[in-house]
Amino acid sequence: MNDIKITVLGSEGVGKSALIVRFLTRRFIGEYASSSECIYRKRLSIDGRQLNLELYDPCSQTCEGKSSLNDQMQWADGFVVVYDISDRSSFLAAKAIIHLIREQHLGMTKRDADSAVFLVGNKQDLCHMREVEREEGQHLAAEAKGHFYELSAAEHCQEVALMFSKVIRNAGLS
Ligand code: GDP
Repeated sequence: MNDIKITVLGSEGVGKSALIVRFLTRRFIGEYASSSECIYRKRLSIDGRQLNLELYDPCSQTCEGKSSLNDQMQWADGFVVVYDISDRSSFLAAKAIIHLIREQHLGMTKRDADSAVFLVGNKQDLCHMREVEREEGQHLAAEAKGHFYELSAAEHCQEVALMFSKVIRNAGLS
């Protein structure tokens, strides 16, 4: 059985927990009490193969906690970096995290960090308050040779599931 470890990074409040909970339970939990880090574990079957998934939500991890981010990079098979499309500062934080991941890649043995990065612009339902254009997200992901999704944990159950399935396949099933 495969073990797949995914870390979900991004500023506090961008919807990391909401995305994880949406993927694992298909529900959107409006206010999620996420004051400390969590690892969510689930046994899944993808493409007929059984796997143990661990999703790590460090809660308010940004690039400021560099040493623990380094630890997470050694641990993870794949990264989901989340920003909120209605909050420009969260996009800048995502950019800094991606740069750190790429920097660290030089010393990484675990995986090709570039293709392991999934950049997610969350809260697409708030597009009337948009501060980050879709093209900016696409550009940042392309620069990192990663993948890009713009979606809403609040409204897009199917898209969230598809995004995580792609992350999982990319991290260990291909
Ligand atoms: P985290 O700190 O990154 O884990 O963020 P949370 O998952 O705790 O979400 C922070 C806030 O954003 C909560 O009030 C959520 O209800 C809200 N939120 C999360 N995802 C969405 C979304 O897709 N759309 C909207 N409108 N709100 C969201």
